[in-house]
Amino acid sequence: MHDSRDRELGMHRNITRRDFLNGVAMTAGAAMMPWDLLAASKSADPETSSNYYPPALTGMRGSHPGSFDAAHSLRDGTFWESAGKPEDTGEVYDLIIVGGGISGLSAAHFYRKATGGKARILILDNHDDFGGHAKRNEFRVNNAFRLGFGGTFSIESPAPYSAVAKGVIEELGIDVPSYSKYVNKHLYPSAGLRSKILFDKETFGVDKLVLNYHPRGGGESEDSASASPELLKQFLADAPLADQAKRDLLRLYQEPKDYYPALTSDEKKAKLARISYASFLKDVAGVHEDIVKLYQTLPHGLFGVGIDAVSAQDAWGLDLPGLNGMKLDPAPGKGMNRDCIPNEEAEKFFFHFPDGNASIARLLVRQLIPEAIPGKSWTDVVVAKANYAKLDASGSPVRIRLNSTAVRVKHLGDAANAKEVEVAYARGGKVYTVKAKNSILACWHVVIPYICEELPEKQKEALASAQKVPLLYTNVALRNWTSFQKVGASSVYAPGMYHSYVNLDLPVSMGGYEFPRKPEEPIVVHMMKAACHPGRPAREQHAMGRMELYTTTFETMERNIRDQLARTLGAGGFDPDRDIAAITVNRWPHGYAYEYNSLFDSFWLEGGETPCEVARKPFGRIAIANADAGAYAYTDEAINQAYRAVAEITKS
Ligand SMILES: Cc1cc2nc3c(=O)[nH]c(=O)nc-3n(C[C@H](O)[C@H](O)[C@H](O)COP(=O)(O)OP(=O)(O)OC[C@H]3O[C@@H](n4cnc5c(N)ncnc54)[C@H](O)[C@@H]3O)c2cc1C
Repeated sequence: MHDSRDRELGMHRNITRRDFLNGVAMTAGAAMMPWDLLAASKSADPETSSNYYPPALTGMRGSHPGSFDAAHSLRDGTFWESAGKPEDTGEVYDLIIVGGGISGLSAAHFYRKATGGKARILILDNHDDFGGHAKRNEFRVNNAFRLGFGGTFSIESPAPYSAVAKGVIEELGIDVPSYSKYVNKHLYPSAGLRSKILFDKETFGVDKLVLNYHPRGGGESEDSASASPELLKQFLADAPLADQAKRDLLRLYQEPKDYYPALTSDEKKAKLARISYASFLKDVAGVHEDIVKLYQTLPHGLFGVGIDAVSAQDAWGLDLPGLNGMKLDPAPGKGMNRDCIPNEEAEKFFFHFPDGNASIARLLVRQLIPEAIPGKSWTDVVVAKANYAKLDASGSPVRIRLNSTAVRVKHLGDAANAKEVEVAYARGGKVYTVKAKNSILACWHVVIPYICEELPEKQKEALASAQKVPLLYTNVALRNWTSFQKVGASSVYAPGMYHSYVNLDLPVSMGGYEFPRKPEEPIVVHMMKAACHPGRPAREQHAMGRMELYTTTFETMERNIRDQLARTLGAGGFDPDRDIAAITVNRWPHGYAYEYNSLFDSFWLEGGETPCEVARKPFGRIAIANADAGAYAYTDEAINQAYRAVAEITKS
């Protein structure tokens, strides 16, 4: 049974992916991955090889195999047993930055501005590519070149960009207001493609694709369908929901009710901040369980958890049904997540590059190391082929050293009086040391207590509490999108499936990159999964999800991807065996920064110092950046925190 279904799904197909079972090369002659190169190469610098080009690798990407072994061994207390004596490179820098994401790259940018541009800077990153979450996936299907975003999707934020963050965007030349020149908003609607919901037989008794009447989880789709009465009517006629559930949904929309009439607006908000939206729907509004199932995964794109772990107050901010009759004062309530507070000015500041914010990372790298990213304009960066050999050139004032995990950061002497910091990093099975006047840790906060043991205990605790949100961002290159056209879908919300969202790529053409206009042309389909475990506190869900993502094989993920696309698009003639050209799973067990949640973080409701404020305190010559330092999973926060960290080490 399993075998014949696998054949139908095309699991036997020789596309560029599963030859790397869970990322490990399984077949002779398969192209080598950078970590294999690192181990096998006689040269200790695989990045200088002309074949070294991570954006074009498919299979398991994101936190790819080989990128986390040193850090995990450090966590488990086994690293130093087998590490051997570190080798001193003799290199001395003004600044060593740990983490080559947007925060680390921005820190280099700000430091150079603050110190007159001559500073010698080393950036270390454990991945084979720079950009952190802002990664790019490239595909070639027949003669077509296609781009996808491997993580950070767009310039967007729940609140307006700060002057500092906007300043960086402008210095890079990015003209955010010109977005409408590059995106073709009419392409899909004019071809009759709409937002749909896939009901699956395991959750709802039958596989059925139905026109979406409203639910959208934010993030990857620009679909702005609103719950018009006509759409809702059509949805209720088609949806495989229990009759009682249909009546309940209609009631939520059409009979607004104040469930706490005796309370003031503030009292109501305080109550709603302490119950989940799932409880609100079940226990307060008393709806049929099908409605809870329909909404359960809706916030995955925003928070990486379902409505069991999102407060009813936040659901009110997101305009989810059932709360409109509560007579709440429109001002944001205490403990609301910034993501749930509507802000028109912020909503207008949106830009999606075909590779997401990888273009921001690449523009930053171009500014820091011009030889590494050819080209001149902010738009031509989209097609520029990075020269990885130039990233760590000995004559360059700024160097980016990939495949290098910082394993120890310490002052040489006591933190108050030391003149230097020493950083040890693992690379290709060896440990090296480098020195600098200062260091900025722009890496994930949960890692810092293991690499910087001299920090105060209270600070290490605060750093460790920054649980990352585990996510999969999957890109599937298809030979054509005729099946999407036939089923009339451009994006699909799938509350019961492995990936909760399936979206055709946003049609953006710029800088010489052309988006496929015809359904017969190859396209990239983006799929999003939050690895959560409903019913538990958010941090626990994230910890379990992280383990799940590290232990699930690529083969299992691929089977789920093929099965989901086949069931979603089957009626449109989609054949996974024939139509899938390549699969890249961007696995992010350490994904979004953890954002405080009124259901689980009492300090968020009560006020006072937050863990991220404790976590980001400077210590001697070491400052701390990353989006984690602001507990907000956005690019502007990564930049803001870099700016603060640089100010801290340059102020004396
Ligand atoms: C899937 C996904 C989608 C997102 N979409 C958006 C979006 O659309 N818009 C938006 O504004 N934000 C988005 N974000 C949030 C994103 O995290 C931020 O926008 C921003 O890119 C974070 O940058 P950063 O430098 O703070 O962290 P990161 O990008 O995580 O960079 C930190 C780097 O430090 C490295 N590191 C960790 N430990 C070590 C070590 N010991 N040694 C060396 N290196 C180390 C990490 O591997 C990583 O490369 C998204 C995040 C994810 C995961």
